[in-house]
Amino acid sequence: MAAHRQNRPWVGETLGGPRPQAPDYVADCSFCPGNARVSGAVNERYERTFVFDNDLPCVGEAAPRDLAEPPGFYRSRPADGVARVVCYSPRHGLSLGGLSVDEIDGLLAVWQAQYRELGARPEVSHVLVFENRGEVVGVSNPHPHCQIYATNFVFKTIETEARVAERHRAETGRVLFQDILEAERRDGRRLLSLHGGAVAFVPYFARYAYEVYVAPLRTCASLAGLRDDERRDFATVLKDVLVRFDNLWGIPFPYVMALHQAPTDGAAHAGFHFHIEFNPPLRKPNLLKYLAGPEVGGGSFLADTAPEDKAAELRAASGTLPAASGRG
Ligand SMILES: [Zn+2]
Ligand SMILES: [Zn+2]
Repeated sequence: MAAHRQNRPWVGETLGGPRPQAPDYVADCSFCPGNARVSGAVNERYERTFVFDNDLPCVGEAAPRDLAEPPGFYRSRPADGVARVVCYSPRHGLSLGGLSVDEIDGLLAVWQAQYRELGARPEVSHVLVFENRGEVVGVSNPHPHCQIYATNFVFKTIETEARVAERHRAETGRVLFQDILEAERRDGRRLLSLHGGAVAFVPYFARYAYEVYVAPLRTCASLAGLRDDERRDFATVLKDVLVRFDNLWGIPFPYVMALHQAPTDGAAHAGFHFHIEFNPPLRKPNLLKYLAGPEVGGGSFLADTAPEDKAAELRAASGTLPAASGRG
C-alpha cells in the first residue's frame, strides 16, 4: 500500500455531462437480435439472454490436433474446451447495471446452467465467466455481453485461490473466505452493500483503486450452489455495485469482471467460496492504473490508494440510476 503517493484525494469531478441514451438496436452490431455474425450465423430474435458459441473461439473442437512435437522439455496439447458469448439483453444500449434485478437474476440463472453444463464435460477443468467493459480494456462491441471460457486447464488466479483455500482449511479448519468476510464485516469501513445473503466490499488487500468483491454469505463452490433466494440477493447487491460504479464519475465505468468459481477438475474444493471480482483499470477519471515495473516486472501490486477511501467514495455515489440510462 502506497496511498501517500497519490497527490490528493479525488474531489468530485465528473465526466461527460448527461449520458446520451444509446440506441436499442444497431444494424451492424453482430450481437443484436436477428443480425448476422462474422461466421455468417444469424442471431435468434431473442428477448432476454442469448448464448452462442464464440465464432472465433480460443478453445474448441476445431483446435489443431496434429501439433508439432515441442522442443526439449516443453509440452503442449490441443486447446480443448468451449468458448461462448452470453448477450445480457437484446437492447444494445443497456449495460449490466441497467438491467432490472429480475433480469440480472435471470442472467445469473443462465450462468448457473452454463457452469453445470460445461463443467460436466470431461475435457473441461474450469469455467471462467468474465466481462470486459470499456474501450480501455479492449472491448470493441458495446452490446452488453460476457464471455465464457470452459478450458482444459485451470486459470492461474483460480488455481492459486483453490490452493490457498485448501491450505487454510488444512491449517485452521476454516474457510478462508469466511475469515475474509468476518474481518470485513467487523471492520466495516470497506463494506459497500449488504442485502440478505449477499455482500459487496472493497477488500483490505485491494490491488486496484476500485477493486470490489461481491459474494454470497454462505460458502458455495460456485454460483450454481446458490439457492434461488440467495441468487436474488446476489443480483440485488451486484446491481447496487454496478450503479454506484457508473454514478461515481458519471461515465460508463470500465472494468474487468470475473466470476471466481471452483475448478471442475474432479477435486472436491470444499473450501472454495464463489465470488465475483471487479478489477476496474481507472484510478481517477481518464487516469489508468498502469501495470509496470512492480506489477509486470515484479509480480506484486503497488496500490496507490487506500481501500477505505475508495469504499467511502463508492458508498457516497448514488445507488440509483439517472433517468437517461435507466429503462426509459
Ligand atoms: Zn447490439
Ligand atoms: Zn477471487
